[in-house]
Amino acid sequence: MTPQPNPQVGAAVKAADRAHVFHSWSAQELIDPPAIAGAEGACFWDYDGNRYLDFTSGLVYTNIGYQHPKVVAAIQEQAATMTTFAPAFAVEARSEAARLIAERTPGDLDKIFFTNAGADAVEHATRMARLHTGRPKVLAAYRGYHGGTHQAINLTGDPRRWASDTGTAGVVRFWAPFLYRSRFYAETEQQECERALQHLEDTIVFEGPQTIAAIILETVPGTAGIMVPPPGYLAGVRALCDKYGIVFILDEVMAGFGRTGEWFAADLFDVTPDLLTFAKGVNSGYVPLGGVAISGKIAETFAKRPYPGGLTYSGHPLACAAAVATINVMAEEGIVEHAANLGAQVIEPGLRELAERHPSVGEVRGVGMFWALELVKNRETREPLVPYNATGEANAPMAAFGAAAKKHGLWPFINMNRTHVVPACNITETEAKEGLAALDAALSVADEHT
Ligand code: PMP
Repeated sequence: MTPQPNPQVGAAVKAADRAHVFHSWSAQELIDPPAIAGAEGACFWDYDGNRYLDFTSGLVYTNIGYQHPKVVAAIQEQAATMTTFAPAFAVEARSEAARLIAERTPGDLDKIFFTNAGADAVEHATRMARLHTGRPKVLAAYRGYHGGTHQAINLTGDPRRWASDTGTAGVVRFWAPFLYRSRFYAETEQQECERALQHLEDTIVFEGPQTIAAIILETVPGTAGIMVPPPGYLAGVRALCDKYGIVFILDEVMAGFGRTGEWFAADLFDVTPDLLTFAKGVNSGYVPLGGVAISGKIAETFAKRPYPGGLTYSGHPLACAAAVATINVMAEEGIVEHAANLGAQVIEPGLRELAERHPSVGEVRGVGMFWALELVKNRETREPLVPYNATGEANAPMAAFGAAAKKHGLWPFINMNRTHVVPACNITETEAKEGLAALDAALSVADEHT
């Protein structure tokens, strides 16, 4: 239900925002953030009465949609009984959230260290790996995103790192597989997999295995383009980690909690890392929460020796109560299975059908509720629709695509020359089809630039 429009309130909200809010990743005077009046399920609306179907899930985190009544009620109940309590104590919401998460993570990832968000989960996972191994380096992929804090941005491969890259000692980058733009001159998934693994092993050997604490990878790299790894790749990385005594960290901040149609994307590939980072979908971002799921082997390192790290709000009861309610809702409502089924039966065929008709679509890739369309000027050469890291006039084709989608009631996720289709995991079939129809219209605009 969309409430009555109220443009005056909207204008006041916008004016205060412009005056005082400093926005992430932005040139402050070149942005114009819309003022949002409300949100429910897979939709939100502004004060002028415009309603949008959200194909972004916020920043890919509202996996159960906005304002789920059971989760809102759980937060209210927790606020009424114990809004907060320090991390050194056992409290019900925290221990129950840890139990529910540990029950779902793969293998023996049975201890949960709670953080405030994804980036600090990555900070702590890498610290644990360095302390566990006594080695200094971490290997990370060029096309990876791990967060905006000091270590996490330095582990990130995308250009947002450039401005704040301090060249932190101990970060070494490698290429992960991506057949559409293969660094390995591969023509098949199998070649891409074998050559990417050989490249990784060469990197390990030339860096010196005895200096490498961890390899960190997103199970399915999200921000850089939803590149589902070829079969065998993650198992191959696991084997290399075992061979050289390296800690394997899978970052599931974006891919975890139903996004890929499994509780964790690691389940798609039957691999178990030594550490797994999560955030976002753990409670659909209703209250900030992240964490590291820790294997028995690494937990043992800190059994008798203190772990030197912590946060004031680690395992905040409000956030944990939201996680307990979210996980229970996901289980009761079969949201993970829904994501797998709707993804395979509606989203994937719908996107492939669009790709057949629209020359601007170079590739469709993804799984579950986690899809990307790579937009190109030319399908043969695969030249991106806009240059890498384009802004202003150079980015006009993607801006026109985005404006067309919004005109048709769809809020699209746009990153460089790609649009990602990442709606709430419990979006209905009707909503999914509405979104695909709006994408169809917007792609016609993108086609004009091919
Ligand atoms: N890792 C991955 C894989 C992510 O996608 C993100 C956020 N997009 C982060 C880490 C950082 O999470 P946060 O923004 O919550 O710090």
